[in-house]
Amino acid sequence: MEKGLLIVYSGVSGVGKGTILSKLMPMEDLNLAYSVSMTTRAPREGEVEGVNYFFVTKKRFLEAVKNGELLEHARFVGNDYGTPKEYVEKMREEGKNVLLEIEIRGAKQVMKKCPDALSIYIVPPSIEELERRLRERNSEDEETIMKRISKAKKEMKDIDFYEHVVCNDDLDLAVNEIREIILKEMNK
Ligand code: 5GP
Repeated sequence: MEKGLLIVYSGVSGVGKGTILSKLMPMEDLNLAYSVSMTTRAPREGEVEGVNYFFVTKKRFLEAVKNGELLEHARFVGNDYGTPKEYVEKMREEGKNVLLEIEIRGAKQVMKKCPDALSIYIVPPSIEELERRLRERNSEDEETIMKRISKAKKEMKDIDFYEHVVCNDDLDLAVNEIREIILKEMNK
């Protein structure tokens, strides 16, 4: 069986990555598997252990790093995030296209280890629109929102690193664009 693709999927906070994914994941022909990350961040309301993240203590996170359990890891606005390696490999061996929703420093580590990974970056139509969406989400305090916006401005300077940049202005168009990118790569 042919090994599945590795898809690095990034975008600044609040750009709508999760909403796009909720439309892509059920598309059977894309054959996707979502890699659940490990994080030291506290769960947001509605987030489920083992579905959205594996929520761990700092001690457990450091242990995972030390044991080489993570494919990549990075710190983001005061918390640690990392990709458990075993699941990614297992799913790819089973022919699944594994999608990693990670930030840019982690993406760089992955691309170094797996240069043939597909990389996609989602951008908002503007920073103003991003700020509006982050506030609308109502899940972070003002300080965190400001930190995430400042981080977004910095991150967006780095998008040339990604093979594909998709603007999430119209949700359905963005979903379709990503769908086409994945299908094309599958048929290569
Ligand atoms: P959030 O706290 O909003 O869930 O995620 C914050 C940022 O961390 C997002 O840009 C998200 O893509 C990224 N992220 C989530 N999981 C991982 C991971 O396993 N590794 C890295 N490097 N970034 C991650």
